[in-house]
Amino acid sequence: MGIKYIDELNLKDKRVFLRVDFNVPLSEDCKVADDTRIKAALPTIQYILENNAPVVIASHLGRPKGKRKKELSLAPVAERLQELLNKRVEFVDECIGEKVETRAKSLKPKEILLLENLRFYPEEEKNDEVFAKGLASLADVYVYDAFAVAHRAHASVEAITRFFSIKGAGFLIKKELTSLEKALHNPERPLVALIGGAKVSGKLEILENLIQRVDKLLIGGGMAFTFLRSMGYEVGKSLVEEELVKVAKTTLEKAKDSQVEIVLPVDFVVAPSRDENVPTKVVPREEIPPEWMGLDIGPQTIKIFSEAIRNSKTVIWNGPMGVFEIEKFAKGTESIVREIANSSAMSVVGGGDTDAALNKTGLTDKITFVSTAGGAFMELLKGSELPAIKALER
Ligand code: AMP
Repeated sequence: MGIKYIDELNLKDKRVFLRVDFNVPLSEDCKVADDTRIKAALPTIQYILENNAPVVIASHLGRPKGKRKKELSLAPVAERLQELLNKRVEFVDECIGEKVETRAKSLKPKEILLLENLRFYPEEEKNDEVFAKGLASLADVYVYDAFAVAHRAHASVEAITRFFSIKGAGFLIKKELTSLEKALHNPERPLVALIGGAKVSGKLEILENLIQRVDKLLIGGGMAFTFLRSMGYEVGKSLVEEELVKVAKTTLEKAKDSQVEIVLPVDFVVAPSRDENVPTKVVPREEIPPEWMGLDIGPQTIKIFSEAIRNSKTVIWNGPMGVFEIEKFAKGTESIVREIANSSAMSVVGGGDTDAALNKTGLTDKITFVSTAGGAFMELLKGSELPAIKALER
């Protein structure tokens, strides 16, 4: 992609506007409850400071819907950032206007100014050009490092780039883009993708894009049943999207034409309902009882999927294999995570519940790359262009 990264920009004597993702969970007494996202931005911030540049940092937090909400202020984030950097972080309770502008313009090298929550302004989500211009007036260089909002054309992400001739992406984006680019466009083969989760509907475009790129596509989770249904299997009360059965059939045919092997589960852990205290049994896919539902992949499927992962050189994974939130339906997902973690393949993992499933196993460190962004990661899997990245390319 034709974007520049921060280490290719000249920051000397320049004020930097840095858009980050400090959308952190806060405790009831408004303290930062989890600082992972703040820590993730430190390499980019530190790089700016090492280059003797002052930095104006901006982020959104939660969903204030264009209104000032005290409980969603970024003030506690300033405190935490200050502790982590061991350096003063000045907080200003606005994003644009004379007060902020005057302060930003008087910043000395290595000084840090954190703006208030961008989403206190309705203009942010409307990609408003006047608001963006106000933000842009605070600095000379724009650095974007918030992958979580890369799929959103918001003022601090998209419109703002029109006002900077020097702009680029930070180290977090660099890691995200280069990992996914490599896995999707220049992978070591065989490339195996493993897609699970609840429904086909949210992931149809992903499946269609992957079919054009992967050698093997393993489908687990609730979405497997719509495919099995399209092949004529009776799947009891398992999750089926009737309106997509035909589409699923076409997808299977397309895969066949492209000589991509789609592997569906051959057995399941089934139960009468999705509860903790119900009886369960393992059945082959031909024998799902009419009043029962499949809630996890079975042992044979785990074996088949594991072998495919073991024989791959690159693995892309999104979506749990079963209802992993309930212990008795978590084995499929956990076994697969373990297999990916122990394989020598390059592994790229991300999107929504995938993170939660991964964290539960404590094996996150053994994955080559775990995406920090649900939505944007999914957009890249679909093959879509991200507005934030497009804006930086301009
Ligand atoms: P997604 O956000 O599409 O990745 O879906 C994640 C959700 O899919 C999780 O909450 C799982 O509980 C759910 N899920 C996985 N397998 C099944 C299944 N066999 N039946 C129903 N829901 C499932």
